[in-house]
Amino acid sequence: MSETQTEVRLHRVTKRFQSLLAVDSVDLHIEAGEVMCLLGPSGCGKTTTLRMIAGLDFASEGEITIAGKRVNDLPARERNVAMAFQFYALYPSLTVEENLAYPLHAEGLGRAQIAERIARVAKVLELEGILRRRPHQLGEGEKQRVAVGRSIVRTPTCFLFDEPLSRLDIQLRQTMRTQIKEVLEQLDKPTVIVTHDQIEALTMADRIAVMRAGRIEQVASPHDLFSRPANLFVAGFIGTPQMNLLPATLVEAAHGADGGAIAKFHLLGETVSAIVERAVVHLTAGSQVTLGVRPRSFELVAPATPDGLHATVDLVEPMGAEMLLHLVEHGADIRCVVPHTARVAVGEVVGVRCKPGQLHVFDEKGDLVR
Ligand code: ATP
Repeated sequence: MSETQTEVRLHRVTKRFQSLLAVDSVDLHIEAGEVMCLLGPSGCGKTTTLRMIAGLDFASEGEITIAGKRVNDLPARERNVAMAFQFYALYPSLTVEENLAYPLHAEGLGRAQIAERIARVAKVLELEGILRRRPHQLGEGEKQRVAVGRSIVRTPTCFLFDEPLSRLDIQLRQTMRTQIKEVLEQLDKPTVIVTHDQIEALTMADRIAVMRAGRIEQVASPHDLFSRPANLFVAGFIGTPQMNLLPATLVEAAHGADGGAIAKFHLLGETVSAIVERAVVHLTAGSQVTLGVRPRSFELVAPATPDGLHATVDLVEPMGAEMLLHLVEHGADIRCVVPHTARVAVGEVVGVRCKPGQLHVFDEKGDLVR
C-alpha cells in the first residue's frame, strides 16, 4: 500500500452539537507509522475529533479520508479502525487469551494465525504469564494492557486511543508509554492518541496537535512545539514550570552578525538587550510585545549585570536537583529554575538574565515573531 493510501486525513472537519461548535474546521493528516497526539484542555474537542475519525460521531462539515477513501458517511464498523477508550470493556467471562482473540474472529483468520498474533502482542505487552486468567483476576494495569493489546492485535487501517494510560499508576505509565510507542512504530499504521497529559504527548508523539476551543493552534514535533511555540496559548500550555510571558515594548532591533538580530526592550521598568529571531527587525519601534522565557532559560547573575533584571525573591520551591524561584518585580511573577546549590534567600534582590538565543518574542496578536 502506498503512503497516501494508509494516511488519515481531515479536511476542514467541523462538528456542531446544536449551537455548540465543538470542532471548528480542523485540518490534519497522519501518515503511516506516525503517532499524532491531540493535546489540549478539557472540552477543546479532542475526543470529538477522534470519534469522528472512528465513525462514532459524524462530521457536520468537512471531509475525512482513511486509507485514501472518503469515510464521512460510513458507520464505525465499516471503517476498520481500532479504537481503545479510557475505560476498558474486557469480556469478563473470557480469559485474557480469548479476549485478545475476539477481534480476530471477524477477520476470518485461521487458528495458527490467531495464535501467532496473540503471541506477538502478549510478548510486547508482557501478558504471557496471564493469558489464562480472567479479567477479575487482573490488576488495573494488567487490564489496561490487555485492552491495549486487544486494540493492536488486529490489522486495522489506523489506531485510535482515548487517554489509553489514564488508569495506570505513574510507574506503569512510564514504561507503557515507551512500550506502546515501540509497538506502534512496528505496526506502520497511522495512530491518533487523545491525551490531556503533556508528558504523555511529548514522549509518545511524533507530532502533537495542540487544540483549544475546537481549533488547532499548532501541529508540530514535540521539540518544535517546545522550542518554537507558534503563539501565546501554546507557549503557556506546553512545558512545566510554565513559560514566563512578560509584557514589554520594543525599543529597537537591528541585524546581528550571526544571522540573528539584537533587540532592545523596555521590560519591567528596565531596558534590556537580547539576541532574538531575525524577523523581530521587521517590527516597528514602540510595538507592544510579549517576551517568552522558559524558567530554565533564566540564569542568576549579579544584580548590577547589564541586560539582567532585578527582582525580589518571593518564594523558593525545592525540586530535587533544582529549585524553582518565584521572583517579583513591577507586579510580575517571574519563575526561574536554578541548581539547588544556588544561594538565594526569600526577600533578597537578585539579578536574572535570559540565556542567549532563548528569548521568544510574540507580537501584539500573540503570534510568535519568526
Ligand atoms: P476532555 O479532555 O474533557 O474529554 P475533550 O477535549 O475531549 O475534553 P470533547 O469531549 O470533544 O472535548 O468535547 C468538546 C465539546 O463538545 C465540549 O464542550 C463538550 O461538552 C461538547 N460535547 C461533546 N459531546 C457532546 C454531545 N454528544 N452533545 C453535546 N455536546 C457535546
